[in-house]
Amino acid sequence: MSPSSYRGRLAPSPTGHLHLGHARTFWMAQERARAAGGTLILRNEDLDATRFRLDFVDTMLEDLRWLGLTWSEGPDVGGPHAPYNQSARRAHYRAALEKLRAAGQIFPCTRSRRDVLDAIGAPHEGAGADDEPVYPREFRPPPGAPLPPLGDTIAVNWRFRVPDDKPLMFADGRFGEQRAVAGRDFGDFLVWRKDDVPSYQLACMVDDAEMEITEVVRGADLIKSTFRQLLLYRALGRTPPQFYHCPLMNDDKGERLAKRHDALSLRTLRAQGVTPAEIVAGFAAGSPEEFGIGNL
Ligand code: GLU
Repeated sequence: MSPSSYRGRLAPSPTGHLHLGHARTFWMAQERARAAGGTLILRNEDLDATRFRLDFVDTMLEDLRWLGLTWSEGPDVGGPHAPYNQSARRAHYRAALEKLRAAGQIFPCTRSRRDVLDAIGAPHEGAGADDEPVYPREFRPPPGAPLPPLGDTIAVNWRFRVPDDKPLMFADGRFGEQRAVAGRDFGDFLVWRKDDVPSYQLACMVDDAEMEITEVVRGADLIKSTFRQLLLYRALGRTPPQFYHCPLMNDDKGERLAKRHDALSLRTLRAQGVTPAEIVAGFAAGSPEEFGIGNL
């Protein structure tokens, strides 16, 4: 196949052992890059030091290689957009944050998660545990209010001011047209945390733009994040990539695979003698349409 301009990425977080659900998404990302004759890169999303451990990084890369995934740019092989570890890319995120501040598109927020949940009358546990509650508009500073400097060390949360009630749309490669309303389906979201760590939304968007990714393949649990990231692309004047969200895998009880399903971690399957070929054959048994590549 002739080289193409397609650039895809694997963006795992080293938060534990990879399970079959992650592996399937990464495998789909590789298949789509291959089908397009493109390039696949690996970016290690190791920003959140409270959730990852250094020894998980090596295990993660080894699991991915064991499964047969290969990448031509990454933390272990280098490449034109190095470094590929997010923890070494803070300056890139900080530059983006400064642009957003200069454009008045972010504001500092001293409210706690509890304040936010109280204001919207949401239960404190359970609901939307993996998503951000909609930030109440009355907590925002007035538009145009002078913004404090960021300072060398950031000790307050900074949020992106979403356009109120703005309908948003993107065409997903797998699920078709996706719609959301900014300010209702999601609110002002974090771009930088008070423990001086950039948010996933900002880091992911900056890296996908700077690493010249043309298609983002990831789990369908991130569709709402895609809308947030599309607002960041617009605010920073960057062209967004295409998006292809993969259906999430459920276990035999219909529950989403998560890391607690240790029985389905690649490590466990491997220890039980399951081969990569068997795992991939299981993925490939899905219909070609499902994978959107037509020629499996
Ligand atoms: N690092 C994220 C995860 O492992 C994926 C982010 C993305 O693909 O945008 O869940």
